Amino acid sequence: MEKVRVKDKEFGPYLTEAVIAAKVKELADALNRDYAGKKPLFIAILNGSFMFASDLFKQINIDAEISFIKLASYKGMKSSGNVITAIGLEQDLYARDVIIVEDIVDTGKTLHHFLPQLQHQQPASLRIAALLHKPEATQFPLQIDYVGFAIPNKFVVGYGLDYDGLGRNLKEIYQLA
Ligand code: 5GP
Repeated sequence: MEKVRVKDKEFGPYLTEAVIAAKVKELADALNRDYAGKKPLFIAILNGSFMFASDLFKQINIDAEISFIKLASYKGMKSSGNVITAIGLEQDLYARDVIIVEDIVDTGKTLHHFLPQLQHQQPASLRIAALLHKPEATQFPLQIDYVGFAIPNKFVVGYGLDYDGLGRNLKEIYQLA
């Protein structure tokens, strides 16, 4: 892996394709085990989680559904303050086992504010699977049940994650130099 330039910033190699794939498989194994016989509903949060959700879901070998929703957009290099309401949630969550699929949990603000809306529909269970988590950045309490990598509080791009709309197509994850 080499350094990459995305828009006006340099990013250094951080997590390789192979390392990500192995971790995604590990998360899927845990989910296959924990949700056997339950027909869970995965809800992937766009845009950032599209690549993770796709790779993760390919490794799910139990009956499961997936749906994609859109929340707040992420502007620049810090989480924007405004959380927009969910677009595209069609399923009734009542009595369903729901797994939220997120690319990264940073301050926790997005999910902290969004989860009560889902709880309102009385799912049987509601858990979070996040590929990346920045524990040092936490500002809002949030239980993340399945975490891929706990990472330092540095901006990352690639594997679905963007910097100002760019870099989502990178196969690896890069960290701001
Ligand atoms: P939170 O609400 O937890 O502060 O932020 C969650 C959202 O912020 C993520 O879904 C993601 O869109 C964005 N975000 C947080 N940290 C990063 C980062 O290091 N890189 C990128 N590309 N997006 C991030």
